[in-house]
Amino acid sequence: MSDSNPNRSELKWVVPLPVPCPKCGNESMEIAARLKDRDELPCEACGARIDLTSKEWRTYINEMLDAFDNIGPTYRKL
Ligand SMILES: [Zn+2]
Repeated sequence: MSDSNPNRSELKWVVPLPVPCPKCGNESMEIAARLKDRDELPCEACGARIDLTSKEWRTYINEMLDAFDNIGPTYRKL
């Protein structure tokens, strides 16, 4: 159980996730780990505030972060 490349990035801090705007449908991009601490994100296209506080969003973000943590050891072997 050795992570051979400890200098590799933590994926959740470098991988952006698409955040769909409920108003115009555009997808704004934000780094996964940053979404966890945000309550809303401004749409890059129309400026609407995208609410990230819903149960669905919290579940989605938490599951994505878990997935990044799970894949991390595999990535560090590359
Ligand atoms: Zn929009």
